[in-house]
Amino acid sequence: MSRLIIVSNRVQPPTGEGGGNQGGLAVALSAALLESSGIWFGWSGETTEQFSGHINMQRNYGVTTATIDLEEQDVEEYYNGYANRTLWPLFHYRVDIAEFESGFAEGYERVNTRFAETLEPLIEPDDLVWVHDYHLFPLGQRLRERGIGNRIGFFLHIPWPPYQLLLSLPNHRQLVETLFDYDVVGFQTADSLENFLEYVRQEMGGTTDGDGRVTVGDRSIVAIACPIGIDTANFVEASQSAGARYTCYRMRQSANGRDMIVGVDRLDYSKGLEERFLGYERYLATHEQQHGEVFLLQIAPPSRGDVQSYQEIRASLDALSGRINGAFADIEWVPIRYVNRGYPRDRLAGIYRAARIGLVTPLRDGMNLVAKEYVAAQDPEDPGVLILSRFAGAAEQMTDALLINPHSPEEICDAITRALAMPLEERIARWRKLMDNIEAEDVMWWRRRFTEALEKAPQMAA
Ligand code: ADP
Repeated sequence: MSRLIIVSNRVQPPTGEGGGNQGGLAVALSAALLESSGIWFGWSGETTEQFSGHINMQRNYGVTTATIDLEEQDVEEYYNGYANRTLWPLFHYRVDIAEFESGFAEGYERVNTRFAETLEPLIEPDDLVWVHDYHLFPLGQRLRERGIGNRIGFFLHIPWPPYQLLLSLPNHRQLVETLFDYDVVGFQTADSLENFLEYVRQEMGGTTDGDGRVTVGDRSIVAIACPIGIDTANFVEASQSAGARYTCYRMRQSANGRDMIVGVDRLDYSKGLEERFLGYERYLATHEQQHGEVFLLQIAPPSRGDVQSYQEIRASLDALSGRINGAFADIEWVPIRYVNRGYPRDRLAGIYRAARIGLVTPLRDGMNLVAKEYVAAQDPEDPGVLILSRFAGAAEQMTDALLINPHSPEEICDAITRALAMPLEERIARWRKLMDNIEAEDVMWWRRRFTEALEKAPQMAA
């Protein structure tokens, strides 16, 4: 087995808590690194006055991490700038708020070059290199320029936008060309893969064959759809832990016989939170007899607070939840409980389990792991119902959820009505099929599928 080098913007070393606070992705990647004696390389999250290229190597629970500090200006231009104000909105179909600043693009190139310069000496001849996400598109190319001939794969965690939309990115072709320095490029969904292939055919005159081989000029890569999963077994275990059981019990106590609908999302405009609140408001406005019988718990920890569009979404959700509560609440019932903080995984699992409905309505999402976690946390004998946006990557696999258009308050309202009235047999039948999928295609499956494709790729001459 080749040694694996994982590269991502941030590094999440194992905490030793297993099903506790660690994310599924970190668990899966740590397991792969442990098996292959690999290294996880990325930004420490810290800044330094002047970039030195110093690598901080650490070993935690058997996993080696290698991190570098970046300059303040790097963080502003590369992370807050090009990654989160240009690529993130555009790739989530929000060209209206994407910012195209040449300084951002320069900072992005600079940091990718810094990553390549510092990573290069760590790479040994037989290593597999696996680069993650939109922060690091050009890294493969920068490594090739330094003579790295190893197999290098790239996985995109966010959606790939439609061809016409991508054209609005200045230097779009330059960005897409960097993907041709990888051996394998993975997308979350068949839809994203098809968007990418469409760009390659239309804009680059490339060809594709049935085996996923994509050729432009004399360069061929393998492009695959490889949906990420959760660590299902671990999450099921977390949902049966004492912490989860206690939280579930407390939630039910505080629900006082009312049905709970839960939403759990990072506070991000891609998550469709305003549309969700409006759909729920429609439900309240049209189901007066249900007042006092149901409530929405929305958990939304703030993220990327340095970026203005995130400050705006936060302010607008504060106002909207206040307006809806003001219009409908009475002295012993508040229709929306809106909470801006994070919870440990076991408590989150208990909250999911106590909820009659999981309401997951992103306007666009690479995958959406919350949808999968909600299903994994359910009681098999009395499961809740997942309402899922058709624009979440997870919708390609989770066709037994109630799939809705998140832009439509009517569809959200109708789905809530249907879910609350759904008979037990139908709830169980739908849940079983959803669970079969997330058990079969969990995060270990995803990781194996990608690394096997990478191992099979022919190695380039250095
Ligand atoms: P994204 O990666 O865009 O934030 P996902 O749904 O794919 O969206 O993943 C979100 C992850 O963050 C999930 O694993 C979820 O459990 C976790 N998470 C989201 N909100 C909270 C919260 N309030 N407390 C703890 N974990 C959270």
